[in-house]
Amino acid sequence: MQCGWQIWEWPQVMVEAEFHAVWVSPEGQFVEITPKPHGEATILFVPDARRSYTGIAVDNVRMPVRDDLLICHFIKASEAIVQVMNRGECASQYGHVSVPAHEIEPLMMAQSFLGQSISSGLRDHDPCLCGSGGKYKRCHGRSFELAFGQQQ
Ligand SMILES: [Zn+2]
Repeated sequence: MQCGWQIWEWPQVMVEAEFHAVWVSPEGQFVEITPKPHGEATILFVPDARRSYTGIAVDNVRMPVRDDLLICHFIKASEAIVQVMNRGECASQYGHVSVPAHEIEPLMMAQSFLGQSISSGLRDHDPCLCGSGGKYKRCHGRSFELAFGQQQ
C-alpha cells in the first residue's frame, strides 16, 4: 500500500486533496484499485511518505483557487460536516454513522446553498441566491460567517 493524496479539481473554484491509497505492484507501479462509481479512467495521485493508514478518518484538504467568501464558506461548511460525521467513535467507523439531525442538517443545507450559488456563477458581491436582493456578503454570508466562525 502506498498512501498519499488523490487530487480533485472544481475548475475556477477549488482544488481538493483526498487521503488515498494505491496498491504497489511487484514491479513497483502504482495501481489504482478503488472502485470509481463516477467512472473516472485515471486519477491524479501524489504519494506522501510521511502518511500511513491508521483506520482513522482523514479530512480532505481544500484550497480555494480564488478569493471569494462563497468558496471560503463552502469549504468551512464541508469541514464542519466532516467534523460532525467523524466525532469520537465515528472517526474509525465506515459506512453509515448516526449523528444528531439538528447538528448536521443546517450544515448540509448551508453546503447545498453555497454549492448551488457557486455553480450558478455567483460571486460574494452578487445578489444572494435566496432572492432577498441583498449582496451575499450582507445576507446569508453574514449568518454563515457567524455560524462557521464559532465552530473553528
Ligand atoms: Zn440570502
